[in-house]
Order: sequence, then structure tokens, then C-alpha cells
Amino acid sequence: MGAQIQVAAYLMAAILFILSLSGLSTQETAKRGVIYGILGMILALVFTIIGPEIKGLEIMLIAFIIAAFIGIMVARKVQMTAMPQLIALLHSFVGIAAVLVGYGSYLDPKNQALVGVEHTIHLIEVYVGIFIGAVTFTGSVIAWGKLDEKITPKPLTFPGKDVLLVAIIILSAILGVFFVKDPQKYFVFLHIMTGLASILGIILVMAIGGADMPVVISMLNSYSGWAAAASGFTLGNDLLIVTGALVGSSGAILSIIMCRAMNRSFFAVISGGFGETGTVAKKIDGEVKSITAEEAVSILEEANSIVIVPGYGMAVAKAQYPVSELTEKLRKKGKTVRFGIHPVAGRLPGHMNVLLAEANVPYDIVLEMDEINPDLSETDVAIVLGANDTVNPGAMEDPTSPIFGMPVIEVWKAKTVIVIKRSLASGYAGVDNPLFYKENTRMLFGDAKAVLDKINAAF
Ligand code: NDP
Repeated sequence: MGAQIQVAAYLMAAILFILSLSGLSTQETAKRGVIYGILGMILALVFTIIGPEIKGLEIMLIAFIIAAFIGIMVARKVQMTAMPQLIALLHSFVGIAAVLVGYGSYLDPKNQALVGVEHTIHLIEVYVGIFIGAVTFTGSVIAWGKLDEKITPKPLTFPGKDVLLVAIIILSAILGVFFVKDPQKYFVFLHIMTGLASILGIILVMAIGGADMPVVISMLNSYSGWAAAASGFTLGNDLLIVTGALVGSSGAILSIIMCRAMNRSFFAVISGGFGETGTVAKKIDGEVKSITAEEAVSILEEANSIVIVPGYGMAVAKAQYPVSELTEKLRKKGKTVRFGIHPVAGRLPGHMNVLLAEANVPYDIVLEMDEINPDLSETDVAIVLGANDTVNPGAMEDPTSPIFGMPVIEVWKAKTVIVIKRSLASGYAGVDNPLFYKENTRMLFGDAKAVLDKINAAF
């Protein structure tokens, strides 16, 4: 196959990736976006494998089939609740791939033979690619461990951490200067930098905890994109550069949007320490009023407008189906039912939207936090379904709360709030929730699905 056909196929794939990203920006077009992405990736893979530069097609095909098999099995088995862990793990693959590509490209005799400026640029690409790849690799593995609760989700910091981080970056840069000057003599510096960058990734992500985790995921997504782009430069592969830049920039934009949604500066997130242990739990005034499913039915019968705010507990209980059924029943009775979605509800951005779409909840009644908040004071009943941090009034009312300043869905402004969860336990950020003690709150304890099944049966 000629190189020109490959360039044309790469261009087509790049366009499909751009269409994919734009499709993923709204729920209605998300499926189309995914299909564009799949087509783009198939084009990219096929035209790379059969490309003029590739030798050992048989080995490639065997690797391709084994990897495709593993990918399909993992995707079929993974629970929606474990999706963020899987994403973190996949980011780590991009990181380690960038490291291996960097070493491979450096050792390639064709590149060793380069001279002058071309050689210098190649060495810089190798060095930077391996650095970003190693940070992405270890950072993603730690993020996976934290999300999968293999490692404590609490932030782990120590005195002088920031100084150490800056020192690692400066030292890596100095070693890089020596390596680029005389790579034969200072080849060992490449290994040392790989070690330093790996430690940097570990310290960076270990220091982050609680409610900042979603930003870390999208930040690592961004890093994995830049790692891929760096590999694209070392390999001279235009498609990898374009795709890496798309992933890198979209991940960075998403990180910034999420930081704004949590009212935290990007730098504060990166420097970590959020939700540190040692914050003294404040005694919350008020009394918990619990109700039964039957009492909840009576409250709902009286209501005209209802807003449902789902959270991680809905995903755990797989309660999207009974909540969809309840929505249909309430709407048939002439009640206005809408959903309010917090940008970081659940365990990954868009988590709730995907689950509700899966259960056929109409898109037009699923609103963003900013759209629903102004209407809550006019709402008869707000149902909090397995959500916790994202509806915590302490974020607005208590300056000592670790999540103070994070925008939340202001459910307590509704006439009555029904909170469906199993206990008074805290959510992901480990912060107590004064909502449960408010005058107009009614706690309906139990598994979200079991409770909704009871309510549906009563209707
Ligand atoms: P939270 O994690 O704050 O709370 C979820 C609640 O669900 C828990 O308090 C738990 O209470 C309840 N729950 C668990 N299982 C069930 C069940 N079977 N039935 C009913 N309730 C159940 O959820 P939110 O969605 O409100 O907030 C998300 C949190 O996760 C935020 O802190 C966010 O920053 C963080 N995060 C978000 C990510 C994202 O991208 N969206 C990624 C990583 C973290 P109980 O045990 O009493 O039932």
C-alpha cells in the first residue's frame, strides 16, 4: 500500500475523531459520536498495520486479535460503577506505551544515524515523551488503585512535598540537557529521569483525594493525550499527533470546567491535600425524621412538581430502571417530573446521564445543575436518590466544611426533600451531610432499588 493512501486514511480518521468529540457533547448525538470514534479507530489501526513501514504483519495480527479479545471481554464484564477505574487503567496503558515508544525510537538505528538539528529535536521528543508517559503511567495506576479502593482514597501528603515535586521537575530538566548533548555518554540519565517521572506520578496522585478525583481522571486523560502526541512526534506519525492533541486538549478543557464546577483552582487540585484526615467533625444540629415507602407515596401523591437528584447510590443499586418506571407513573398522573444532574455526580462525568439514557428516561427532562437550581424553591418534592456530597448544604453554608465553595444542587430549597439511601453514612468525600437533619428532610432508608420497587408497587 502506498504512503499516500495511508495519509488519506489518516486524514479521514482524524476527521472522524473530531466528529466523534463533537457528537459526544450532547446526549442526543452521543451514540453517533461513539460510532464515529469506532470507525476512526478502525481506519487508523488497519491503515497503520498494513502501512508501508510495518514489518512482521503476522505478529501484529496475533497481537491485535489477543488485544481485541481482552478488550471485548473487559468491556462486557465491567460494571458501570467500575468504569472510572477502567478508564484510569486504560490511561496507564497509553503512558507505558509512550515510554516504550520513546525507548524503542531512541534505540532504532535509523534514528541513531540522524545528525545535527534533526537529531537534537528527536532526542528532545524522546525525552519529553518518556517523561510524560512515565508520569501518566504511575499516576494512572495510583488513580486506579484509589478508585478501586485498593489504596486509601484519602490524600497522602507530607511536609516538603511541593518542594520535592519542583526539585524532581528541575532535576529531570537538567538531566535532559546532558542527555540531549551527549546521549551515548548520558544514556543512564534517561533511565534516571524515567524513575524520577514515575515517582512524580505517584506523589502527584497519592496527594489527591475525595471530591477532587474526577479532576484527576480528566487530567490524566489529558496527560495520556499529550503522551500519545509525543509518541506521534517520535514516530513521525501525523495521526497520533492529531489524536493525541485532541485528547490532550479536550481533557485539559474538561479538567478546567470541572474545577470551575467544584469552585477549586486547577493548581489547588494538582497540589493535592483535599479532604485531609484530621478535620474535626462538627456536631450537626437537628433531628433525623425517617419515613416509610408508603409515607413517601402519600407525599408524592400530593405533589405537583418533583425533581429527582440521582447520585452514586443509584448506580450501585442499579435503580435507574425503577426510577424510570416511577417517572413514567408520576407523569401519567399529570405531575411535572425532572432530573437534576450535578457535573460530578456518580464516579465519572456524565455517569448519571448514561444510566438514565440506558433506562429510557427522556432527555428533555434531564437538566444540568445550573438549569435546575433556580427552580428548586418552586418545587414540591425533591427526591435525592443515592446522592450525598453533591447535595450537601455545608458546601454553601459552612466555611469550615472541606467541600465549602463547591457548587451543589440546592435540594433543601424544595418544600419537602426525600433522601433515599441506606444509612446516614457520608459520601465519597467523607464529609457529614447537614441535609439529613433539615426540618423539611425525610429520610427513606434502604437500598435505592428496593425502596423504589416498593414505591412503584404502591402506586
Ligand atoms: P456520594 O459518593 O457522595 O454518595 C453516594 C451515597 O450513595 C452514599 O452516601 C451511600 O450512602 C449511598 N448509597 C450507596 N449504595 C447505595 C444503595 N445501594 N442504595 C442507596 N444508596 C446507596 O455520591 P454523589 O453522586 O452525590 O457524589 C459523587 C462524589 O464522588 C463526589 O464527592 C465526587 O467529587 C466524587 N467523584 C466523582 C467522580 C465523577 O467524575 N463524577 C469521580 C470520582 C469521584 P449509604 O451508604 O448510606 O447508602
